Amino acid sequence: MDSTHHLTDSTTLPPAVERKVSLQQYNTFQFDYQAEFFAIVDNLETLKSLLGWARQQHLSVTMLGGGSNLLISADIPGLVIINRLKGCSAKEEKGNHLSLVVGAGENWHKIVEFTVQNNWFGIENLALIPGTAGAAPVQNIGAYGVEVKDSLARVQVLDRVSLDVYWINAHDCGFAYRDSHFKGQWKEKYFITAIELSLKKRADLMLSYGGLANQIDGEPSLQKVFQAVCQVRSSKLPDPNELANAGSFFKNPIVSVAQHSQLKESFPSLVSFPHGKEFKLAAGWLIDQAGWKGKVQQGVGVYEKQALVLINHQASKAESLLELEASIKASVFDLYGVELEREPVQLPGLSGKLNQEIPL
Ligand SMILES: Cc1cc2nc3c(=O)[nH]c(=O)nc-3n(C[C@H](O)[C@H](O)[C@H](O)COP(=O)(O)OP(=O)(O)OC[C@H]3O[C@@H](n4cnc5c(N)ncnc54)[C@H](O)[C@@H]3O)c2cc1C
Repeated sequence: MDSTHHLTDSTTLPPAVERKVSLQQYNTFQFDYQAEFFAIVDNLETLKSLLGWARQQHLSVTMLGGGSNLLISADIPGLVIINRLKGCSAKEEKGNHLSLVVGAGENWHKIVEFTVQNNWFGIENLALIPGTAGAAPVQNIGAYGVEVKDSLARVQVLDRVSLDVYWINAHDCGFAYRDSHFKGQWKEKYFITAIELSLKKRADLMLSYGGLANQIDGEPSLQKVFQAVCQVRSSKLPDPNELANAGSFFKNPIVSVAQHSQLKESFPSLVSFPHGKEFKLAAGWLIDQAGWKGKVQQGVGVYEKQALVLINHQASKAESLLELEASIKASVFDLYGVELEREPVQLPGLSGKLNQEIPL
């Protein structure tokens, strides 16, 4: 059944809702697809009432934050909600700890900056990651040897069907490399409304990744690490406001020890890192070696300074990017026998599916 089945063009919409809105400015790839219905939400009551309305109208609901980890490849049926739930409150805890509760719609980098200004340790290596605080747990954002799960105490969720709001302990969220239950089994069950970070008043700094230590003069400090991360990232990664992109387009593939040894024998300069009992390969290196770095075709391309990042130079729709993705995956597989997996979330997902039909 079409998701618009119960709504005619003359049906009165709730005040917060607009019809047929371009999502171009709400995704950092800047692809121009429409939301069938659209609302920007900055408080929990409106969010609940819109979910109730969408359910009545048999509309699917998609929540977006900053749109920096998305590959929108068609118009999105149903209601698209832009999360702008704000708020931030800190509470001293016993010993070395401090709790910081942050509304899901807060800008992630601003929160990192705020913690560094206050001398609170834990998320400084995650500076300059675009997007919202509420999306951070979805793929367990990570950079420079740190993941958000390392400093996350709890996640506040809104149950999409019962509309109850409650906290889930971080240990129960299935966090893994660029993954969590929010990306998997809970995708249709919850929206994240806030997060609680557990930060430290004193802590060791993590400097062993990505050449951070070399960027710091003298005695390392929280502020110096934050600045070094910002500096290194700005020099390596394109600013989405200048070059449309969604950061790393592929995850770093994880391979067995045996496959890693074979690859290392054939390609001695292979870039890889131990990952538990396996190895993580640098996807950027694989793509670069396959000759893709800097290539441009049909308005899209591979970033000239970092082959892991795909750029939308001037395409308004996603077809040419999907073609580029398929060609890169095929050539990396032909060369190394390694399957690349996409990092950004493709939308629409369960297009046109009714809320009531989604299994819990
Ligand atoms: C230049 C650049 C650099 C980047 N660098 C990194 C990096 O170093 N490390 C890293 O991990 N990521 C990186 N990213 C990816 C991205 O910034 C993160 O994944 C970020 O957390 C996405 O936040 P967002 O608010 O933009 O989410 P969106 O792109 O809006 O949404 C992403 C997914 O989360 C869902 N979602 C969003 N908000 C909620 C919510 N409140 N409740 C439930 N589901 C929700 C969406 O439906 C979607 O499926 C980078 C991106 C760019 C453009």
